[in-house]
Amino acid sequence: MLPFTYQRPETVAEAVDALQAGGPGTTLLAGGTTLFDLMKIGVASPSRVVDIHRVRELDHLGVANGELVIGAGARMSRVSAEPDVIRLFPAISESLWRSASQQLRNMATMGGNLMQRTRCAYFRGGEPFPCNKREPGSGCAAISGVDGGMAVLGVSDQCVATYPGDVGIALVAFDAVVDLVGPDGGRSLPFAQLNLLPGSSPEREHALLDGELITQIRVPVTPVAAASGYLKIRPRESYAFAFASAAVGVLFAGDVVGECRIGIGGVATRPWRASAAEAWLTGKPLTEDNARRAGEIALQGARPIAANEFKVELGIRTVAKALLDVAGGDR
Ligand SMILES: Cc1cc2nc3c(=O)[nH]c(=O)nc-3n(C[C@H](O)[C@H](O)[C@H](O)COP(=O)(O)OP(=O)(O)OC[C@H]3O[C@@H](n4cnc5c(N)ncnc54)[C@H](O)[C@@H]3O)c2cc1C
Repeated sequence: MLPFTYQRPETVAEAVDALQAGGPGTTLLAGGTTLFDLMKIGVASPSRVVDIHRVRELDHLGVANGELVIGAGARMSRVSAEPDVIRLFPAISESLWRSASQQLRNMATMGGNLMQRTRCAYFRGGEPFPCNKREPGSGCAAISGVDGGMAVLGVSDQCVATYPGDVGIALVAFDAVVDLVGPDGGRSLPFAQLNLLPGSSPEREHALLDGELITQIRVPVTPVAAASGYLKIRPRESYAFAFASAAVGVLFAGDVVGECRIGIGGVATRPWRASAAEAWLTGKPLTEDNARRAGEIALQGARPIAANEFKVELGIRTVAKALLDVAGGDR
């Protein structure tokens, strides 16, 4: 690990000042559960670290004015166990429970979770693997590699790295918004626009401007979010990232689907909203065939590499099962 300057602001305003004063090479530190890893393996080498883990202004959580409001500093464990989250947003609670381990969730923050970087083995492997995300223009070892965890949706010829998070899949399904603050003041961004597609510049991963930080996440309280769930398929039953996941919500109008939401994870380069599948399923009965067809539409356009062709069928089945599971006895 290279030496770095450490700073611990008490307020959001001080944090913004510290980010601006530090300039390029300055990085925020929250729970540190992924940043320290990346520093130890040489993938991140900040010259200055601004520690916001104890900024109390960021540590709020509650329902107000028809929205769930989650401070960027709220710990994952607290959010997943909050009774209002369990009642009004089961998919958010379940996606957090199925992330990492209890010890990590006790330390890790929601802001840090949204900003975590891909687990692509070639990105994290450093030398000798070329990686356009880590070293722009160097190439992509993953495309011809053996890591089956790569993405099949939203990929480019430059990068096939999977978005690793779980709660982001629920947030994209239920129209979350992130509030940001920076040197020029505050602004809001639909969560769906926070993470960027790799395209020809995979090193650009998010839409934050220099000196900006996430202050909170807001999610509208809706009946469909209360009728939701999260299904995660992974290499082992605990403590593993998703091979495929789905955050879904289904409301019925009589015998047919009146409204539904489908977010998919583990298969895409960013949190993926399956809007075409939602539109197709609305107005139809939720039969096994229709659930599968919704999954097929959700995975349309998939571009697997040799190592992960299984992810297309797995993604389809994950969406279908999540829809049928969440509908449960209501069908
Ligand atoms: C073994 C292991 C297993 C895991 N399994 C899962 C899993 O199954 N599912 C899952 O979703 N995650 C998983 N994770 C990732 C884990 O959820 C993240 O490490 C954690 O959420 C990061 O939060 P943090 O507060 O520790 O972030 P940090 O490590 O402190 O920071 C992470 C990044 O976010 C930036 N950042 C932090 N806060 C802000 C902010 N407010 N605004 C802007 N940028 C910010 C930092 O600069 C840094 O770049 C796993 C991690 C480990 C180590």
